[in-house]
Amino acid sequence: MLQTQVLRPDADALQAAAQILRTGGLVAFPTETVYGLGANALDRDAVLSIFAAKGRPADNPLIVHIHDEAQLEGLVELPPLARPLMRRFWPGPLTILMPRTDRIPDAVTAGLETVAIRMPSHPVARRLLQVCELPVAAPSANRSGKPSPTTAAHVLEDMDGRIPLILDGGSCEVGLESTVLDICHGAPCILRPGYVTREELAEVIGPVEVAGSVLRPLAKGEFARSPGMRYRHYAPEGQITLVTGAEADVVEALRRLHRAACAEGRRSCVMCFTEHCAALRDCLPHDIGSRDKPEEAARRLFDTLRTVDDEGMDAIFSEVMPPEGVGLAVMNRLGRAAAFRTVDARIVLQDG
Ligand code: AMP
Ligand code: MG
Repeated sequence: MLQTQVLRPDADALQAAAQILRTGGLVAFPTETVYGLGANALDRDAVLSIFAAKGRPADNPLIVHIHDEAQLEGLVELPPLARPLMRRFWPGPLTILMPRTDRIPDAVTAGLETVAIRMPSHPVARRLLQVCELPVAAPSANRSGKPSPTTAAHVLEDMDGRIPLILDGGSCEVGLESTVLDICHGAPCILRPGYVTREELAEVIGPVEVAGSVLRPLAKGEFARSPGMRYRHYAPEGQITLVTGAEADVVEALRRLHRAACAEGRRSCVMCFTEHCAALRDCLPHDIGSRDKPEEAARRLFDTLRTVDDEGMDAIFSEVMPPEGVGLAVMNRLGRAAAFRTVDARIVLQDG
């Protein structure tokens, strides 16, 4: 078993990390979205070892991270809408699909003719990319099926003994993975919502669609435009139920659902907005942030999902937020964690 080192990202640690990447190894590093598990994107064997370390299905492609647009030379063709998007949103949490050349190994793209590219803004990610002078393929640094890691401790929980080095850059500011945008196949389409919102994208490139499976399960036989959508990601061991309806009804329904679950001998808790924590103090509330600040829920969500797992919860009842702005990304991750299981608060209250 490998000894996994966790290092503060000082100059020596960055050199060590770059050396590992240059010699085909894996390094976990912080980005503004979540922690990434990086390998040299041009080294097929290194890329394959990412899939092995994560237990990731080989048909789920990776995002390639760069620090300078010049690195794209010879790797991709820029679609017409790419330049204005790159100018406005890079460096930052927007991933853009681009037609690729055969310098990108099939292992990175799962054989697709496009490759997902992103330029992260986190200073540690940027420095690492500069020092190693490589395009770095990096999915989230969790074991497949676990919530994406937003701290170095989360990465260690999943990857201890599997990778040589984790750079510890503290908590991730955004907390959810990047927005994935397809501008290669007809109308621009968000395949995965993130911190860069549909509304912001539309300001630069006009109307933007959102893939159907963002807020519902993929239908049987439905084509997944983004292979990641086929998998039930981010799922805790316990069962999450989303409760919808008017604010006061939801609070009362959460209380009743929690009590009923406890009465059945299940370990239960609620995930609620800061504003409702006091009213739900007898229901083991997990604060997901203020109801008007989806960015707070984004930052806390994955840590909360790990916490309810660690606590051995088996029935978790959660509030929801409007799927607008950053709320769309929150509801996509929360919805998938719940396998889109939803109840209407009024029906809970009627049933007494
Ligand atoms: P992760 O690296 O864990 O953040 O996941 C990357 C996400 O981007 C997954 O949902 C992939 O399915 C998606 N993705 C990466 N490359 C492509 C591509 N070429 N076409 C469509 N989706 C992609
Ligand atoms: Mg992931």
